[in-house]
This record gives sequence, C-alpha cells and structure tokens, in this order.
Amino acid sequence: MTGTDRSQQLFDRAAEVVPGGVNSPVRAFGAVGGTPRFMASGRGPYLTDADGNEYVDLVCSWGPLILGHGHPAVVDAVREAAGHGTSYGAPTPGEVELAEEIVARAPVAKVRLVNSGTEATMSAIRLARGFTGRSKIVKFAGCYHGHVDSLLAAAGSGVATFGLPDTPGVTGATTADTIVLPYNDVAAVESAFDEHGHEIACVITEAVPCNMGVVPPLPDFNALLKRLCERSGALLVVDEVLTGFRASRSGWYGIEGVPGDLMTFGKVMGGGLPAAAFGGRADVMDHLAPAGPVYQAGTLSGNPLATAAGLATLRGATEEVYAAVDAAAALVSRAASEALTRAGVPHHAQHAGNLFSIFFTEEPVGDFAAAQRQDSKAYAAFFHAALDRGVYLPPSAYEVWFLSAAHDEAALDRVLAALPHAARAAAVS
Ligand SMILES: *Cc1c(COP(=O)(O)O)cnc(C)c1O
Repeated sequence: MTGTDRSQQLFDRAAEVVPGGVNSPVRAFGAVGGTPRFMASGRGPYLTDADGNEYVDLVCSWGPLILGHGHPAVVDAVREAAGHGTSYGAPTPGEVELAEEIVARAPVAKVRLVNSGTEATMSAIRLARGFTGRSKIVKFAGCYHGHVDSLLAAAGSGVATFGLPDTPGVTGATTADTIVLPYNDVAAVESAFDEHGHEIACVITEAVPCNMGVVPPLPDFNALLKRLCERSGALLVVDEVLTGFRASRSGWYGIEGVPGDLMTFGKVMGGGLPAAAFGGRADVMDHLAPAGPVYQAGTLSGNPLATAAGLATLRGATEEVYAAVDAAAALVSRAASEALTRAGVPHHAQHAGNLFSIFFTEEPVGDFAAAQRQDSKAYAAFFHAALDRGVYLPPSAYEVWFLSAAHDEAALDRVLAALPHAARAAAVS
C-alpha cells in the first residue's frame, strides 16, 4: 500500500466543484467512512487507484464488467467504432444487432435502446400507463429502479399505502399514484389488487432484488405477480437492469422463467458504456412513438460506441463465462461465510444464482425491514480491512459482490487471503 494522499487530494478538489465530491452517492464511502479511492485504471479483475494501490475489484462497475476490466474484444470494438465517429443522431447497423442480440436472449419481442437503467424504468412505466390508460403503479420497498421520481417513494404507514416521497425534491403528487409494498409479502400484494386492481397500470419489481443486498423472491412470488397482473389487466415490469445477462445468458429469466410484459436491461448490456434498454410484448412496445402515441426519445440513444461495447460484451459472454462467474461467486461467498463464522461474526450469506451478498445479521433477510436490521458498523470494519489488503468490496453493506470471468485463481487467492483478516476486524468492531 502506498497510501491514499492522491485520492484524498482529488476528493478535496472534487468536493469544491462536485456536490459531495462524487457523481453518484455510494462512491463517497459515506456508509463505510474513510477516503474514497479515485481509480486510475482497470485491468482484468484489478483496479489501480491514483496512488498506485492495486485491488481485486469485487464491484465491477456495479455489474456491467462481466468480462472484467479492459477486455480486449470490448476495447477493440469501442476503438473501432470511435474511428468511424462517435454519434450520428441517425439509426445505425450496430443498434439493430444489439436489439437482435437482446431479443435472442431475453423473452422480449421488441426493445428500445436508452442510455441508463433509470431511463429504461422511467420509460417502461410511462409506456405501461399509456398502454393501459391507468395511473397507479406498485413497487416494493427496498427494490431500486434508478432515480425515477415516482419510484423514489417510501411506504407510508399501514401495509398497502400510497407512497410518500423518499427524498426532498419529489412531490407528494408524483408519488401519490405509487403503491409501496413490502417485498415477498403475498397478502399485501393480494390486498392491493383487491382494492386497486382496476386502477393499476403496472407492478415493477426487480427480477431478484439486489439493491438491498440479495433477497431472493419466495418460490412463487414472481409468478404470483404475473398472475395478478394478468387477471386485472395490469402489466408486469420485470427490472433486469442488474440481473440481465449476468445471472445467466438470459438473466434471471433464464433461471426462473417468469417473463415480464415489459422488461428493463442495463449494466452488462452496455459493457461499461452508457447503454440500457426496455422491451417486451410487441403489442405493448408498438405503443411507443413513432409506431404509437407514447412519446420517448434520446439524442444519444443507441450510441455507436455504447452499442459496440454492449455487443462485444454480450457476444463474449458465453456459457463458459457464466460457468466461471458462477464458480467464482460460489467460492468467494463460501469463503466469506466461513471466515465470518470462524471469527464469530453474526451474518447470513444470501444467493440467487451467481448473485450474492452477505448480511451482517443472523436472521434470513426476506424484505427491506429485515435488511435494515444488519450491523452496518461491522460491515464498515470488514470493508476497510479487506481494502487494506487489496480487495475492493462494495462500499455499502446493501450491495451485491460482483465477480467476472476475469477473476482468475491469482485474484481469487488474494480475496481468500484477505477474508479472515476482514472477518476478525468485523468481530472487534
Ligand atoms: C442499477 C439499477 C438501475 C438504474 O440503472 P442506472 O444505469 O444506474 O440508471 C435500475 N434498476 C436496477 C435493478 C439497478 O440495479
């Protein structure tokens, strides 16, 4: 370790010109304390910060880098695309190929490309409302769908209540049509449909919630949502921005097989560049302009560099890649759990395919309320001890640990060597 002077200097400079010194809140290390590391380069499973410290990266840009940092096929594709100009504001061959690749993998007939997961979920909800002619939407507490105003709602008092704004700047009017329910709560969903079924445009859910830590759906939960939506004429919007093309070649759908009427994608499909998509049934998607009346647009949508990176990533994400990510995730999760057990730290590892997170609480976590009962202080100590030993974990206890096919034996050995130290630090925190 060569210290953190440069990161600290950059953070100080950034704080002068960027709110909180970062462009997305979790990067500020607020949940774990200390100096956020400013990254200078990435290579395979490794990140190098501005001070020259090297880390095994278990964040992978929050999911997109399933092939690791700077994969030659992705870098070459972007370089090649850039050589032909960076944006045309007109349709391109690459967009067609990326849309075809997504349609071949996921249960969607048509897709529209956008620039971020937030844009995808925002547009899917607008389309669901436009298609059904209804106003209300259902979301689950602890599910994150980007920073869409109407989805930044918290549950009010009572079970099936209309959402209250979860942040200043979102008005009560914006969340008044959002019903926020506890995740995995079948009775709450049934009663919301009993009461409001004919007014509900859509239910939006993460295919597997991964933004409160990994909280697998109860065995029949997604299928139940699908049935209730079908019965009442609402649409099911399955958010696979995180799980899409990561949990398997067809995302979580490839594992559980419950399709949404609309689905959202991002992260892996952009290969580390800004690309996302929403797609679904042809009759629903054809309600979008210019085929239909629901407006949606984007200056840089289907950007040639982003589509090139996404295509190279999806084409590189073969069955061998998924097998490697599955194996690496199983290894790291088991080792983390063993180290914590040995150190006497209460914890619970939760899995959904190759997606996993470690909750610093003994009880199994089925919803957001349970996730919030974990010991974030113990995680902060764990995180910093791992960081000091060259392992970059998510700087929050509520996140998935991401692996890639580039995490080879040398990188995984470094993670395994750091975990017992991190576990002992958590034990004395
Ligand atoms: C990351 C994420 C989003 C938001 O994507 P951005 O590209 O950050 O806007 C939406 N939904 C889920 C499930 C996510 O994990």
